[in-house]
Formats: sequence, C-alpha cells, structure tokens
Amino acid sequence: MKVLVLNAGSSSHKSYLYELTGPLPPTPPTPLWQATIDWSGGGQLVAKANQARQERHLTEAERPRAIAHLIATLTEGNTAVLENWQEIAIVGHRVVHGGADYSQPTRIDADVKATIRDLCTLAPAHNPVNLAGIEAIEQLLGDVPQLAVFDTAFHQQMPAAARTYPLPYEWVERGIRRYGFHGISHEYCSQRAAQLLDKPLDSLRLITCHLGNGCSLAAVQEGHSIDTTMGFTPLEGLMMGSRSGSIDPAIALYLQRQHDFTPDQVDRLLNKESGLKGIAGGDGDLRAVLAGREQGDERAQLAFAMYVHSLRRQIGAMLGVLGGLEALVFAGGIGENSPDVRAAACGALEFLGLRLDAAANQDRPRDRDIALPDSTVRVLVIATAEDWAIAQACHRYWQAELA
Ligand code: AMP
Repeated sequence: MKVLVLNAGSSSHKSYLYELTGPLPPTPPTPLWQATIDWSGGGQLVAKANQARQERHLTEAERPRAIAHLIATLTEGNTAVLENWQEIAIVGHRVVHGGADYSQPTRIDADVKATIRDLCTLAPAHNPVNLAGIEAIEQLLGDVPQLAVFDTAFHQQMPAAARTYPLPYEWVERGIRRYGFHGISHEYCSQRAAQLLDKPLDSLRLITCHLGNGCSLAAVQEGHSIDTTMGFTPLEGLMMGSRSGSIDPAIALYLQRQHDFTPDQVDRLLNKESGLKGIAGGDGDLRAVLAGREQGDERAQLAFAMYVHSLRRQIGAMLGVLGGLEALVFAGGIGENSPDVRAAACGALEFLGLRLDAAANQDRPRDRDIALPDSTVRVLVIATAEDWAIAQACHRYWQAELA
C-alpha cells in the first residue's frame, strides 16, 4: 500500500510517499518520493524520486496552492511515481495541537477539522497550515482516508497533578492546562529505545530529550508520558532556538505595563526573538553558538551555558517525577548532532552512576547506546523519525479499520 505523509510547519512543508509491504521495518525505509517547500529560503520546492530531482521557485502568490504544487511532482516530471491518485491508500498528517479530545491517531472528518480549527488560537503557527494541508488533499484526492496524528496525543494520559496549572479552578475547567508537544517524536523515541535495549517498553523509565529548534523533554513510564516540559503552548520549558522557554510570567506583564508592548509584540519577543537567538544573536542555530563560543564570544558562551543549565535543571525535574531512570535518550537536530550538549547533560548525572563513553559520544552515534558498559543508566542517541511514525500509524489504522 502507498501512504502519503504531510508534515506542514510554519516555514516548511515536508512530504513523503512510502510503499509499505510486509512487516514494517523499525527505522524509516527509503521513501518512494519526498518533497519539501522551504519558505525561509524564499519558497524553494525540491522533489526527489527515481534517483532524480526537480526544483522550482514558488512565488508568494503561489503560496495558497503550495501543497498542490508539492504533490503535483508525484505525477509530473522526472519525479513522477504515480499513474493516478487512487494508488494512494491513505494520507497521514502531523497535526500539532489536538487539544484534550484526541489521544490516538484519528480519521479526519468534519468534527475533527472543526476541532483543529478551534485550536488555531493555541497553535497559530501550525494548526492553520495543518488544516490547509488537509483541505488541499480533500480537493485534490477526493475522499481518500486521511488520518490526523497529533503532537499532543502522547501526553494525554499525563496525571492530573502534572497537567494542571495552579490557577483558579474555574480556569482549569475552561481548558487552561498543560498539553505537551513533540509527542510523535517522544513516542517514537520511547519505542525505539525499548527495541535498542531489547526490553519491554512497560519495564522502562525514560527521559526523552527532543532537542531541535524547539526543545522538550518527556518523562516516560510504562510507555506513557507522565510529564513533559512544554505546556499550554510550545513556549514552556527548556530554553530553545528562538523561544525563551519558562520565564517568570510577570515579565510579560511588565513589558505590557511599563513598555507598552502589545500582546502580539510580547508573543513575538518570547517566541521569535529569545532563546539562543536572543542571548547570542544570529538566528538561534546552535552550530553558530558553538562556533562563537570557540572564538571566545562572551554572549555565545553565556547562551551555551544557559542552554545546558536549562537542560540539566529540567532533566532533574523529570528524574524527580520518575523516581529512577533506565535510559536517557537524545534526539532532534541538537540531540543527535551535538556531543557537547550530550556530555554536558550527562556530566550532571554522574552521581547516579551514569557514565558516558566519551569516544562513542564523539563518534556521530545513531540509534545506539553511548554509555559505558558499567553505567547504571543507558544513554541512547536516536534519529527521530516523525514522518515514519506517522506512516506507521497510517498502516496500523488501515490494518485495523480499512483492510
Ligand atoms: P531540528 O529542529 O530537529 O531540525 O534541529 C535544528 C537544530 O539542530 C539547528 O538549529 C541546530 O541548532 C541543531 N544542529 C543541527 N546540526 C548540528 C550539529 N552538527 N551540531 C550542533 N547542532 C546542530
């Protein structure tokens, strides 16, 4: 069966077509076709298939039909892999915010679309583009089954004590609560960790560290997230590329009262101008911070020290919630690629008997254990694969409901 995956983000669209036959492999197979549109690079569409690629520059005027342009490369030009659209059995979408309603991948219908639309206010950078992707597929592919795979779903079973903010109860009842995000990645990493350790997932206590442009941790017990660092929105928790993570909320009030900031300006400051970018300057890419730090740039040194401090502090919080730890898992662009960040995080846990293998940590590890044999805690680096996790969810749904 052919499964199309759409991962629409604020500044890029990624899409993959997988051919699934027989038992699914644990890690992503090579897709039949893949395509991306990068709006930060000015609307560059790149499609790859048949060992060929096609590139096109999309203008701003073409943006509303971006998904149509993207998936046209499935049937047109040197990347064509489909004769007709009916070959696609099911389409899976990453949907960032599913609110309190969805704890499982869900077949998309009018009610699901209405919920995703209602949640646009809580995830303004993501839910509107996710919805646009769903509607574009409806127009192009008619009534092909579409599945929403939510980034919030994995955290839906968090205990009330972890998900509730200490606000007046009336606001708790009105839905101001912690939802958590990056759930597709945290779930995939948890399952992959159990495979790599060759242990049942329900016997493990894990801290999964998804460290990319956005960063979050999950405390995973018996295969469920029991706490996570992101909250009502993806702004809470760790210091990130351009997001502040947790700060005293009174700072937002101060900016509004004393400096006449509008809510939109506060939003922009905290989400787009803070984090590594705010402290070190540049665009919030850790590679630039690491280079600046090597050259003795004081702000880059401070930014790195703050990033590590924030990570250690939040790992400590997850540790306290779990009450023990079998493995610490690193994933995401930073988690998978920065030995410095991994070493700094692990260094704080030596008192537990965690011992990192320094050579393995430097050795571009992928899906492997980088702790020494006598370490009391395993340390795994996992290449997270959200798009493959969505394809797997589509396959499971198809087998259970449609086959
Ligand atoms: P992601 O959002 O998962 O794609 O992660 C993007 C972030 O990963 C970038 O902003 C970089 O900060 C970081 N990153 C990617 N490659 C490296 C690397 N080799 N060393 C350190 N950080 C990296």
